Amino acid sequence: MPVFSRAPLSFERGEGCWLITDKGERYLDFAAGVAVNSLGHSHPHLVEALKTQADKLWHVSNLYASPEGERLARRLCEASFADVVFFCNSGAEALEAAIKTARKHFHANGQPERYRLITFEGAFHGRTLATIAAGGQEKYLEGFGPKVEGFDQVLFGDLKSVEAAIGPETAGVLVEPLQGEGGVRAVPPATLRRLREICDEHGLLLVMDEVQTGVGRTGRLFAHELSGVAPDVMAVAKGIGGGFPMGACLATREAADGMTAGVHGSTFGGNLLAMAAGNAVLDVVLAPGFLEDVARKGLLLRQKLAAVVDSHPELVAEVRGEGLLTGLRCKVPNGEVVGALRGEHLLTVPAGDNVVRLIPPLIVSEEELDEAVARLDRGLSSLEAAKRSAAE
Ligand SMILES: *Cc1c(COP(=O)(O)O)cnc(C)c1O
Repeated sequence: MPVFSRAPLSFERGEGCWLITDKGERYLDFAAGVAVNSLGHSHPHLVEALKTQADKLWHVSNLYASPEGERLARRLCEASFADVVFFCNSGAEALEAAIKTARKHFHANGQPERYRLITFEGAFHGRTLATIAAGGQEKYLEGFGPKVEGFDQVLFGDLKSVEAAIGPETAGVLVEPLQGEGGVRAVPPATLRRLREICDEHGLLLVMDEVQTGVGRTGRLFAHELSGVAPDVMAVAKGIGGGFPMGACLATREAADGMTAGVHGSTFGGNLLAMAAGNAVLDVVLAPGFLEDVARKGLLLRQKLAAVVDSHPELVAEVRGEGLLTGLRCKVPNGEVVGALRGEHLLTVPAGDNVVRLIPPLIVSEEELDEAVARLDRGLSSLEAAKRSAAE
């Protein structure tokens, strides 16, 4: 179905942060499959893990035990607030599991009327019927029938509105600690801390969507660590499989107390190839120094981008982000900037709020950061020149 507007490019191979077209042209990949290829392309450890598993077994379903899945779940729990994990195949599915976990918790604890989640303007939670309702964006909801019930949206980061929206049917708050699709907009750490307090005061669950921010993207394993508070339930996907489709819903034992045998499920979730990929990604991301290096490179990139903003004040207004989830807010339509950068063989991703995202693989080198910034500078200069000659 023609639901995507694709760029006229097709890639045949990838090496680290580079994508190579069928014509042999090289592109510097600061899109990373929309924050998915956390270890870049053809990472030897990931390729090896997937090939080894492919020779053994691909899929057995959830009818049987899965040592590889149990190992991945244990490692995710040991490295986070969580006690239990549900594996699925995408971000939207991870959110569906998170929403169901929150609702079922109250059902299991004698408060079935508490099923509503408070969400934030600008949010993106996926494209299933429940997640478009949670995201609340009219352009994604239009034409798909009645909106799924149970989501109350408030202004981005507005704690007063959150408190005002809490009622006898509220189950929790669903928040991205840093909105990705919404324009690389971070919720201030103090706001996240206060959200945690508000949830505790009212007996609500704090549900976080770390589909884009999770698994090292922000220089911490999960972005909420930057604020010092943890959620009760969390959705993860994108980077967790390094390019293999998978998602996960993590939760505390208490928050997931309604998720008993038979109440939820997935045929493909926990697929053995996915579990092998997930474990291989964690081998690299949890290795000593890796996350610190992501944080350091992120800071370096934002410093370099600030200089670019200074030299192109007509086109770009501001640098945003955390770790290697960076954004440039534009003063001209962001699609024009993405196009100009593509002309310099630099791949980026547009986001809401007229932002261009620079989200390289986490293994990016300093030389590649310099190369990207040089291409960005050239791309913006050629866009300026084009605009000048169009004005004359
Ligand atoms: C991408 C994304 C999703 C949806 O993930 P899919 O794998 O496309 O279903 C949900 N939430 C956030 C924050 C995302 O960035």
